Amino acid sequence: MFLYVANLINMHMSSHYEKYKDTIKKVAKRNYRQRIVWLNEYLADKSCVHCGESETVCLKFYPHNNKIRKLTQRKGMNEESREESIQLIKNSKIVCANCFIKLESDLIEFI
Ligand SMILES: [Zn+2]
Repeated sequence: MFLYVANLINMHMSSHYEKYKDTIKKVAKRNYRQRIVWLNEYLADKSCVHCGESETVCLKFYPHNNKIRKLTQRKGMNEESREESIQLIKNSKIVCANCFIKLESDLIEFI
């Protein structure tokens, strides 16, 4: 009986997923966008400390970019993880993607 019900639920879930696949994907995408929005808002009036590039999509946090992105992409960001990412942002310098690569390869350094 239990198995039967479980199968029924599974079948229902997968047909539900099939039916709403596109919607689910769209919502996931929208949530993802909303989570990165405040980071991009933060970067909107910033520019690369090395070369002055100000295009938001090019900007990264050095050296904590991956950590910050990971934290802010996590589902249901709470006060604590937000606070943690703010701290990381404070301890990072804003550079563009090009300068980020150069910094990582020791081609340039901060004065
Ligand atoms: Zn730069």
